[in-house]
Amino acid sequence: MNIHNILTAPFIQEMCEATDQLWQYGWAERNGGNISYRLPADEVQYYLNLDQKFPMIDLSFTIPELAGEFFLVTGSGKYFKNVKHNPADCLALIRITKLGDQYELIWGLENGDVPTSELASHLKCHAVRLKQDANHRVILHTHASAISAMTFIHELTDQAFTKTLWQMITECLVVFPDGVTVLPWMVAGTNELGEASAKKMKDCRIVVWPHHGIMSAGQSMDDAFGLIETAEKAAEIYLKISSTNQPVGQTITDQQLWALADAFQVTPRSGILEARESDD
Ligand SMILES: [Zn+2]
Repeated sequence: MNIHNILTAPFIQEMCEATDQLWQYGWAERNGGNISYRLPADEVQYYLNLDQKFPMIDLSFTIPELAGEFFLVTGSGKYFKNVKHNPADCLALIRITKLGDQYELIWGLENGDVPTSELASHLKCHAVRLKQDANHRVILHTHASAISAMTFIHELTDQAFTKTLWQMITECLVVFPDGVTVLPWMVAGTNELGEASAKKMKDCRIVVWPHHGIMSAGQSMDDAFGLIETAEKAAEIYLKISSTNQPVGQTITDQQLWALADAFQVTPRSGILEARESDD
């Protein structure tokens, strides 16, 4: 079989573009942020010969639901601004083993590093999202500035946080009718944070880590990225309003949000909006 140059693969290009864009937004300072991208086996086989032995590395947990799955992930300690200059050093292509307790390093991390320290969070979230959506592909974590700032001044419940974001821009309810979920502050890189994020991702594709950042799940890089861009834009507007010290004169009302949901045929997460007024 003719093996093609993996550096020309669309999935590598997408990863380079996403990491560069996150850095340009100012959300990926130093080594902040991590992405994992689930790849179908045929896409990987087009670029790599899989008939060989690869280094096996233990996971600190077992995830048999993902046995045999391939993921392109960012490396631990790697700066997003550098990924596009040297993807073979900054990225890793891994395959989860049959028992789900190890992974094989198929490609990348040429200088002997390890995948993102948030690998536990990512894999647990992938497993949960895949149960909900067979087309799920991407988990993206970044230090989105406005969302992080908002977690210092806004009530940290799913209901209150979601409703405020929905009220800030008309598009929010349409883009994320499932809302956002807000975790308590937790230590980064732990299995506990992974478990908590994954549990929430059952019903919701955006998880806010207070005073840290945001994580999203999507069917494509654009999908996962777009969820964060939209939530972040809403948070920016919230901060701008808050900084005026003016009383809020008007907002999008709950009944208007219901009308929006009807028009775009989305179902708002329950428990966020007041009951719909009957129009008969
Ligand atoms: Zn982080």
